[in-house]
Amino acid sequence: MKLYLEGHGHKYGTEQMLLMLFPDRRPEYPDTPPGPEEDFLRLTLKRGGRWMTGIALLRLNGRTARRSCRVPLAGTEDAVVRAREEQRALKTAFYRAAVELTGRRPAWGMLTGVRPVKLPTRAMEAGLTPARTERQLQDRYDVSPLRRRLAMDCARASLAVKRSLAPEEISLYVGIPFCPSRCAYCSFISADVKGCLKLVEPFLDTLAEEIAGAGELVRRAGMRVASVYIGGGTPTTLAPAQLERLMGAIQETFDLSGCREYTVEAGRPDTITPEKLAVIRRLGGDRISVNPQSLRDEVLRAMGRAHTVEQVYEAYGQVRRAGFTAVNMDLIAGLPGDDPAGFRESLDGVLALAPENVTVHTLALKRGSALTLRGAPLPAGAQVAQMLDYAWDRLREAGYVPYYLYRQKYMSGGFENVGWCRPGLESVYNIVMMEELHSILSLGGGGVTKLVDPAAGRIRRISNPKYPYDYIGAAPRLTEARREALPFWQALRDGAARP
Ligand code: SF4
Repeated sequence: MKLYLEGHGHKYGTEQMLLMLFPDRRPEYPDTPPGPEEDFLRLTLKRGGRWMTGIALLRLNGRTARRSCRVPLAGTEDAVVRAREEQRALKTAFYRAAVELTGRRPAWGMLTGVRPVKLPTRAMEAGLTPARTERQLQDRYDVSPLRRRLAMDCARASLAVKRSLAPEEISLYVGIPFCPSRCAYCSFISADVKGCLKLVEPFLDTLAEEIAGAGELVRRAGMRVASVYIGGGTPTTLAPAQLERLMGAIQETFDLSGCREYTVEAGRPDTITPEKLAVIRRLGGDRISVNPQSLRDEVLRAMGRAHTVEQVYEAYGQVRRAGFTAVNMDLIAGLPGDDPAGFRESLDGVLALAPENVTVHTLALKRGSALTLRGAPLPAGAQVAQMLDYAWDRLREAGYVPYYLYRQKYMSGGFENVGWCRPGLESVYNIVMMEELHSILSLGGGGVTKLVDPAAGRIRRISNPKYPYDYIGAAPRLTEARREALPFWQALRDGAARP
């Protein structure tokens, strides 16, 4: 779509809104005016003495709408606040014009960010009552009733965890970027282990070195590990002895006496064996994921998942016998070859197993995933909406509560991924990571260490290499890059200690 921005440079916010409202359109910034038949958006920002006004002139299929949104200038002296309010005025005007012409109201209204829960969490922290916070989601952002309820439940869970965190607590993430084979929809950094078996041992050597350096850093800073999450990829692609080496190093290096939970993302049922589960349990793992994604074999085949429904049940039985405190199962709504009836079957099948956590994802196809390239048939947005409506009702009926959620770019229908749990069995790691409540020390492939200063709302990111080839041998450099965590954490602790 042709975009003309006047009086501002908020390209990113405008494009985010464009992607959500018109996912098939790509932004263009032409030097010439639009032709008489061409669709376009002219988005203008005007500043007066007391107000700034976003004005959208949108033409779509021969029809035109002009809508505006006015926000007060008072309180926008700070540059960050001013930029945020400018974007709000512009995005709201664009949204209103689009709704007028299409008659479609997205489930999340005009919220485009990946973390919609931060908004109600911050509002309640600032003293707004839950009722007024929810009304703000409705009136200011046009969020649908179902999504408002999800956001409010997750905001309550986030606030409860936030209140329980001590300033010296951090979480530890370890990324294992290997999988037994590559799923067609995958957009993670993960290598098919068959093609790079020879990289696994050198990868683990580097990881052991990185763990040692990170342990030293955590000790010197006087921080404590509140949760551990080994993800990927598929960590259980590793052989039992390799898992033992990795988890043994974590146990020996970090003081885990105050650790609230220890998760290993087994994920792919075709990697789970009783030997690996015994290692995980013995070395501290108490939470695990077994991810079917679908309980229909034809859907699993269509997404190149390389395991059967039968293997899901087998793996689940093994995990239960190993005695984990909490088992998570992931499902995806919107998979190729699936339909609302198939999704219902999958969800009901998962609920019959009674895992403590269920995470329902909506398919997000990033550029480059094999499914996008193959052009496999996908359920329509309305069908995905039906799947999610069913899931959200059915999970509540079955006694689960939503505790964290996030959205992604290119997500089918602009919906969301939601983690549900039996009350009291939420994953603390998922909440602190998604809501950025404290620092995450990330080691291994693709990890991003986040140094979070919750009071100032500041986050400093330090990225690890994504691919095993780049990661191997990088431990000294990564340990060096992470040195800045020491004064950062010491300052956080000192700040908290000051009256
Ligand atoms: S198991 Fe997960 S990380 Fe591995 S290939 Fe499949 S989707 Fe990607």
